[in-house]
Amino acid sequence: MSGILKDRAVILKTWEYGETSLVVSALTRSGGRANFLAKGAKKARSPMHGRFRTGNVGEIIYYDKPGRALKLIKEFSAAPVLDSSGAGLERLCIFQAGLELAGRASTGDEQEGVVFDLVEAFISELASGDDPWAMLFVLEISLLAASGLMPAIERCDRCKKELAGCVFSINPSRGAVECGGCTEGEGALSPRSCDLLVRMSADGFAGMRGVEVDAEARREIGTLLHRMLMHHMDGYRLPGSLGVLKGVG
Ligand SMILES: [Zn+2]
Repeated sequence: MSGILKDRAVILKTWEYGETSLVVSALTRSGGRANFLAKGAKKARSPMHGRFRTGNVGEIIYYDKPGRALKLIKEFSAAPVLDSSGAGLERLCIFQAGLELAGRASTGDEQEGVVFDLVEAFISELASGDDPWAMLFVLEISLLAASGLMPAIERCDRCKKELAGCVFSINPSRGAVECGGCTEGEGALSPRSCDLLVRMSADGFAGMRGVEVDAEARREIGTLLHRMLMHHMDGYRLPGSLGVLKGVG
């Protein structure tokens, strides 16, 4: 495909290019992750000046020529969704982590913009002031589910008992979900983590509004999802910004 294209994009990262330009890594809705050139975007008079902050979401118009590594941005109309000055370090680091994960999850041939829509929803949930950890976990679960790698947390794989209201374990490599009765409690998550996982996987972002993830559940669910992503997602590594939080907390 060549010519002028229009899409929606979220900015992942930028690098300076020459005196006045930027190279922009963005996740687009139809084309997945791609690198763009924003010519002259560093000039104060450029209409694109200041538009390419990480996490900005908007409409992009660009030229694409086969064989050219960088697509050339003609216009990008975007406003920041998250107020970075008022958000606080934890929320900002989680915001960065979510963008990094989505960038890695994008294969470039997205199934109908699934990854893009998830990251756009994640960004707006983070801006709304709810527990950012809950929203990061929902994003991780949804990215795994979009690739068919997240088991349904509905019934025990062994005895078929409904899992709502009981404790269970999830094997990160096999994806097996087993109730505490079948495993005699071995490897079972805490009741609170189990309840949260059932709600996150059933209701997504909407199910986590107004819900706090306490420190124990954060550690348990965070570790489980990290292991699942390690196991199943090519190129996954723990986002650097979460390392920053470990150093602080
Ligand atoms: Zn069972």
